[in-house]
Amino acid sequence: MHEHHNALGLATAPDKATRGLEIALRNPVLPVTLLRPHAARRAARFFVEKFPGRSIYAVKANPSADLLQILWDSGITHYDVASIAEVRLVARTLPQAVLCFMHPVKAEEAIAEAYFTHGVRTFSLDTQEELAKILRATRDAADLTLCVRLRVSSDHSKLSLAAKFGAEPREAAPLLLAARQAADALGICFHVGSQAMSPAAYVQAMARVRAAIVEAAVTVDVVDVGGGFPSIYPGMEPPPLEAYFRAIHETFESLPVSYSAELWCEPGRALCAEYASVLVRVERRRGEELYINDGAYGALFDAAHIGWRFPVELVRTTASDARDMGFSFYGPTCDDMDHMAGPFLLPADTQAGDYIEIGMLGAYGSAMRTGFNGFNSDETAIVDDEPMASVYVVTDEAETASNVVTL
Ligand SMILES: *Cc1c(COP(=O)(O)O)cnc(C)c1O
Repeated sequence: MHEHHNALGLATAPDKATRGLEIALRNPVLPVTLLRPHAARRAARFFVEKFPGRSIYAVKANPSADLLQILWDSGITHYDVASIAEVRLVARTLPQAVLCFMHPVKAEEAIAEAYFTHGVRTFSLDTQEELAKILRATRDAADLTLCVRLRVSSDHSKLSLAAKFGAEPREAAPLLLAARQAADALGICFHVGSQAMSPAAYVQAMARVRAAIVEAAVTVDVVDVGGGFPSIYPGMEPPPLEAYFRAIHETFESLPVSYSAELWCEPGRALCAEYASVLVRVERRRGEELYINDGAYGALFDAAHIGWRFPVELVRTTASDARDMGFSFYGPTCDDMDHMAGPFLLPADTQAGDYIEIGMLGAYGSAMRTGFNGFNSDETAIVDDEPMASVYVVTDEAETASNVVTL
């Protein structure tokens, strides 16, 4: 494990792990990303041990090299990449990793470099044009795994991925036939949208897969159910991940695929949401609005643009005994849109100079940072306490409930 040195003068290693409060006591001026390697390790082990197939990490959710190494060390061997920069990053960081290039619209040069320089053999596509492009770029390679992406509904998800990619039902059969002829292995993939709140999302998408296989009458070697596995946020408490795995496994078993067909998934959010939180400072209070030092152009894009409510906690030496009230946040840039509506529940006496920990930002948080208006931060510290919420930790109530059942 690397040591993290930064402008705070911190050199934190796992054996000297700490909590947000200890970092806040050093009065950091910039937002500090608090990293929880143990949480990422736990999530990876969960997928490796319990998903009834192969788990492929979707790198865009958090491309940090430290996280890639943690996932690799925890048994994640395959990585879903979408750009040539992600291909190079993973190839450099984890030379033994298997890369799957799952963006359905790629530059021909990117395909050629991925295939010839980095050994990528798995590609997704959703049009005949992309199939022709892949074959041109790889000079009609005979060792390709080609995954045809179907368009499926995002009805059960908080973030739609239904508009941009995916072959329509009437396009699917001819595309599957053409891909079958060109491929060494043929796959079908889809994405139900991010933060899917019900296993039914996957069951319904797999009904589309069944219809496409039956219509095309092709042998399918891979069914890839994509990402969308949920994490936990205020007001978004999903069923247990095991319920998703069970529904996917049962539906997969009933599909008309070859006996040796493989089941894949591409979790992004679920593998890394609990890995990081961000410690921010309040620079000003105006009524129910807190001006904080991170925002829409930093790690809080989703909080600003799609109203995502992340859990928050006031970080003080002595806990406040004021009642909670709802706040909204302004980020540090001069842009009015740098606004996070929340509401974020914090003690009513929260004020300038206070530190707030914003939880569950390991996925689509730091990955989205820009340096707009001169506000950026790469400060990190490793902490060893639990994330504010977890889909992997059995809560006391759940434990009590199961105890009651066994008694
Ligand atoms: C973004 C993405 C993922 C990961 O999605 P999550 O909702 O974060 O699990 C997986 N596959 C593809 C093709 C993606 O674009």
